[in-house]
Amino acid sequence: MCGNVSGERHQGCGLNPGRMPEKADPVRVTGYRCQRTLAADVQIEGVGFITGASVRVRLRPAAANTGIVFRRTDRPSAPAIPALASNVTDTRRRTTLGSADNGVTLVEHLLATLAGLRIDNCTIEIDGPEPPGLDGSAAGYVAAIADCPIVEQSARRAIWAVTGPVVVSSGGATIGFHPSSEPGLRASYLLDYGVFSPIHRQTFTVDVRPAEFIREIAQCRTFVTKAEAQGLRDQGIGRHLTPADLLVFGQDGPIENRVRFADEPARHKVLDMLGDLALCGFDLSGHVVAYRSGHALNVQLALKLAALAAAVASSRKVERHPVAKAAHAA
Ligand SMILES: [Zn+2]
Repeated sequence: MCGNVSGERHQGCGLNPGRMPEKADPVRVTGYRCQRTLAADVQIEGVGFITGASVRVRLRPAAANTGIVFRRTDRPSAPAIPALASNVTDTRRRTTLGSADNGVTLVEHLLATLAGLRIDNCTIEIDGPEPPGLDGSAAGYVAAIADCPIVEQSARRAIWAVTGPVVVSSGGATIGFHPSSEPGLRASYLLDYGVFSPIHRQTFTVDVRPAEFIREIAQCRTFVTKAEAQGLRDQGIGRHLTPADLLVFGQDGPIENRVRFADEPARHKVLDMLGDLALCGFDLSGHVVAYRSGHALNVQLALKLAALAAAVASSRKVERHPVAKAAHAA
């Protein structure tokens, strides 16, 4: 147990919170909290959204400073893949880590779950190329983990903030991370697919803490328009799925389904965003605001924040967290 160690000198992590940030630093450490891991293995089985194949995931406790690491048990000789932005290889429609043959795709909902519940160290053993799709939300992961205690570890995890906005934009979409006078992470998403989209314009804002993650975000499902669903089916993706399995929007709303929240799509975009930003490998304190952003921009922001944090930590000539080292080296 290391308690709330914000502002204290602490063994196990070399970042020194006692040193005042220099004015020029674009990012700074605002505090620390205890790293956490599961007390025991948690197993989840299901069908992959992309492949339609049965897959089993085992979430295993991991030592302090391990971070989140994927291990393909069906590829025993393949290297483990740390869940870091530098290991992202594809962001089309979903986030993929590692190589085409040995990687893992559609990782964002599982990563959001671990981040949302503040599980920092975990080895994810998986016997296929994607985690179970479940109902397109994180609710099944949260339910599986609910029966397992989460334990605090002796090492601490840095919480980084920005001293000015860090923004990435492309093609009319944008995501920015902004300073805030309030501690913790706030996330806002503005979903706007235009007046002709069957999905209406909507916004959602949440203070990201475990209770809010479970109550407001985790149960919000993947969504597509009817035209998108047909396009994916034509590519051989999700042919085993029916509109009842996830949210498919026709002109009159969800087909053969009902939304769990009026703004469920915007909430799901926050879920995706949290999964992608978990690829920073550290906690964030501030306000992340996104307009129409998807995995590509989310991961770009994670890469930028990880690089800024690595540069600041390096300039301080301090021992950095192994996760940050890996992000910098890859
Ligand atoms: Zn998603």
